[in-house]
Amino acid sequence: MKCFNHHDRDAFGICKVCGKGLCLECLKDEKGIITCKNSDCLNRKNFWKILVMVLLFIALVLLIIDFVG
Ligand SMILES: [Zn+2]
Ligand SMILES: [Zn+2]
Repeated sequence: MKCFNHHDRDAFGICKVCGKGLCLECLKDEKGIITCKNSDCLNRKNFWKILVMVLLFIALVLLIIDFVG
C-alpha cells in the first residue's frame, strides 16, 4: 500500500478514521491511534457527530412539544 498523498512512498500506517494509507510524514500518532496529519478526516468525523447531536436535540424538542401540547 502506498501513501495516499505520496504515491511514490510506502504507507507506514493506516488512518483509523478514513482508512487511507499514510507515510510517516502524513500520519499523526496520538496515543497509538493513527490518523491523517491534515485534520480533514477528523473534522468530517466531528461534523457527523455534531449533526447527530443536533438531530437528537430536535427530536427531543418535538417529543416535548408533543407531550405538552
Ligand atoms: Zn505521505
Ligand atoms: Zn484520515
